[in-house]
Amino acid sequence: MLSFIYSKFSYDLGIDLGTSNTIVFAIGKGIIINEPTVVAINKKTKDVLAIGVDAKKMLGKTPDNIVVIRPLRSGVVSDFDMAYKMLSYFIKKSQNYYSGGFKKLFGPRVLLGVPSGITEVERKAVSDAARNAGARIAYLVEEPIASALGAGLEITQPSGSMLVDIGGGTTEIAIMSLGGIVVGKSIKTAGDEMDLSLVEYAKTELNLLLGEKTAEECKIAIGNILNDEQSKKLSFSLRGRDLKTGLPRTIEVNGLQICEAIRIPINQIIVSIKDTIEEAPPELIPDIIKRGITLSGGGSLLKGFDALISRETKIKVKVAAEPLTCVAKGCAKILEDSEIFSKIKLL
Ligand code: ADP
Ligand code: MG
Repeated sequence: MLSFIYSKFSYDLGIDLGTSNTIVFAIGKGIIINEPTVVAINKKTKDVLAIGVDAKKMLGKTPDNIVVIRPLRSGVVSDFDMAYKMLSYFIKKSQNYYSGGFKKLFGPRVLLGVPSGITEVERKAVSDAARNAGARIAYLVEEPIASALGAGLEITQPSGSMLVDIGGGTTEIAIMSLGGIVVGKSIKTAGDEMDLSLVEYAKTELNLLLGEKTAEECKIAIGNILNDEQSKKLSFSLRGRDLKTGLPRTIEVNGLQICEAIRIPINQIIVSIKDTIEEAPPELIPDIIKRGITLSGGGSLLKGFDALISRETKIKVKVAAEPLTCVAKGCAKILEDSEIFSKIKLL
């Protein structure tokens, strides 16, 4: 009876509160929100001035009294208040997608993907924030599990699957079986570190001061780990400030330079992937060799990353179909399918 009432007057949301992007999947409707995880606040009063797309537009362009922050940048919610405000904003916004008002009689049932390294205290902070933000029930699942399901991997069986999700603030590496993580690592080297390496490279090699946003645009346009010939053909006009003259300057860079600039974070990710494989129980290795490694998250779109990981691990690698939405789609799958729900390890 109760479940009938809830099905009429409530709704379900899968939420990927990522370090770079927040994606909300409403069951029965699909992806309804896809916005940067960015908040603009008044420095003095701590009032929130903008969230999501509107806040990202302000990045690097604010007067002294306003700061634009990415509260989940390091992968965890350290600021409960900020997490609560963001979740409130996204949950409230999701209600606009339901007409008639009846669906809103009860808050939504929410399933949130969280980094696998999350502590007990952080876990509690996130679910409290979600409930205070209007969720009727808040479930948490480790991101690699959601991402694997969203990528279409069969992880509830007694066989091994390996997924690497390269986001903005964190890279999640996991070997899974029977709906849980057998060995996993959550490292703070991912897309943001590549951007910072690029800023550093421009400073030391080109005498050019770059904004992080410009570095990210360049990385998305021509970021690569390809072979020399292919790499050389890619080019991008980097706009920044000349460190010698202090004046604006545009420098043309090629793909090979970007490849060199991001080498350190790329190598760190590769080392962690290898370490995880080394720690895996031997019984799971044949499954992983057979099925290969799946990549998800925005960082997996870096040209040539799949081939490099494959070369380094001697295991085949494929990039998920829509790598940026895997976590949200996986959360939705768990909510939609009671059999999967019962087999997945929720937090
Ligand atoms: P998160 O889950 O941490 O929010 P996402 O999975 O949304 O992160 O990925 C965001 C990261 O992916 C950012 O660092 C972004 O710059 C990077 N990214 C997005 N598209 C590309 C691309 N085509 N090539 C390389 N990196 C990309
Ligand atoms: Mg993510």
